Amino acid sequence: MPELPEAETIVRGLRTTIVGERIRRVEVLHTDILRQPKLIFSKRVRLRIINGIERRGKNVLLVLNEGWVIKVNLGMTGRLLPFSRPPRSAERPAHSAVRLRFLSGALLVFDDTRRFGSMEALTSAEWNERSNLMGPEPLGSTYQVSHLLDGLQRSSSPIRSWLLDQKRIAGVGNIYANEALYLADIHPQRQSRSVTKNEAKALYRSLRSVLRDAIKAGGTTIQDYRNTDGDKGEYAGQLSVYGREGKPCYRCNSGVQRIVFSNRSAFYCPSCQPRRRNK
Ligand SMILES: [Zn+2]
Repeated sequence: MPELPEAETIVRGLRTTIVGERIRRVEVLHTDILRQPKLIFSKRVRLRIINGIERRGKNVLLVLNEGWVIKVNLGMTGRLLPFSRPPRSAERPAHSAVRLRFLSGALLVFDDTRRFGSMEALTSAEWNERSNLMGPEPLGSTYQVSHLLDGLQRSSSPIRSWLLDQKRIAGVGNIYANEALYLADIHPQRQSRSVTKNEAKALYRSLRSVLRDAIKAGGTTIQDYRNTDGDKGEYAGQLSVYGREGKPCYRCNSGVQRIVFSNRSAFYCPSCQPRRRNK
């Protein structure tokens, strides 16, 4: 499932391809992708120019002129694929849900096999309201250890669940939550408010370095994720615990364990990340 680094990789790919394009026509092949009636979506975006591409959490934002925004959530299998000209049938994405055709002849296809993704055209006021409900950006220049520590101290949830909650912190999903907790020596089921100041510091650093390294690698492809060129992300080869159940911990050689809670797998090293703090 695309998280912050994958969305960021897509944003960077779109910035070099579709900025400046004017939307000529909207084709909706699967209306369930839209969070509003097709006619409203079309009316809101048609003939507008894509002025920029931004990211907020796991969302990709196409910023249009006159303050309009198309918010794209990639869901589990969503892909945003730009084409400089209409693709021949052999290269046409197999699960196209929405196509934005541009005046230049170029187009952007939102392809989504499982269709958990979504698209929605919003005014800037509507978008700001949504954005304000989300937690801070962990890679933002104003995000400090104190913000993380404050947030954790207010919560009795397991820390892995806290990290996945988009209202607490934006963009972190299961892969990077598990990786960051491993590097900070924190068990994924530790109660958030039990995390000490030093542990919060370690987690702040590990979270930011994991996300930055993953962006450098173009994200993680476990199965479906592709960038705007249709290529896989390379970070899967750098994962320390995620998906490595039974394999040796890189630091202590203990077997990596998997537990399931809140319906998601958590991967951790039982020696490096003890359930109870022994300090
Ligand atoms: Zn270990």
